[in-house]
Amino acid sequence: MIKAVKDYIRTIKDFPHEGVLFRDVTTLFADPRGFRMAVDQLLSPYAGLDIDKVAGLEARGFILGGAVAHQLSTGFVPVRKKGKLPGRTISQAYTLEYAEAEIEVHDDAFHPGEKVLLVDDLLATGGTAEAGIKLIERLGAQVVGCAFVVDLPDLGGRAKLEAMGMQVHALCA
Ligand code: 5GP
Repeated sequence: MIKAVKDYIRTIKDFPHEGVLFRDVTTLFADPRGFRMAVDQLLSPYAGLDIDKVAGLEARGFILGGAVAHQLSTGFVPVRKKGKLPGRTISQAYTLEYAEAEIEVHDDAFHPGEKVLLVDDLLATGGTAEAGIKLIERLGAQVVGCAFVVDLPDLGGRAKLEAMGMQVHALCA
């Protein structure tokens, strides 16, 4: 049987807290065929589109986004949790299940007119991706697509991003 991307992802019950079914993509990343398949499928809609940069959301978006950027011959920009970047940053707050969080980019990471592909492992409520999009747009760049390995549509992320005019690409639910 030829395995699909979804078949390499393991679900772990009650992580990080009771009642959560956590999609563990480390098993996908650890498999040579699985990882290659995921990267190839993530980038295929964007090949030849003159994308300038891939933005990866911390932390699993770094692993996928770095590989996608290399394949598309673009630059890569890490969108990091607050306090991790050494230079001057801009930051964007967003709401987690029970708390507020902030993500940041360097204030010279994107430039007006640049085309950016946003990459992360999983889309749930869309709060993290929305904050990432806002950071990119605040620096004048344009988000031409948002690519995820997993989309959990019941949590509303896809609808939220599409309502912002974003094009969402996901490999499995
Ligand atoms: P959102 O902001 O869309 O609610 O949550 C998405 C963010 O949380 C992503 O950065 C993603 O890495 C992380 N996340 C939330 N739930 C899961 C999960 O079940 N598995 C993985 N791998 N990441 C998750």
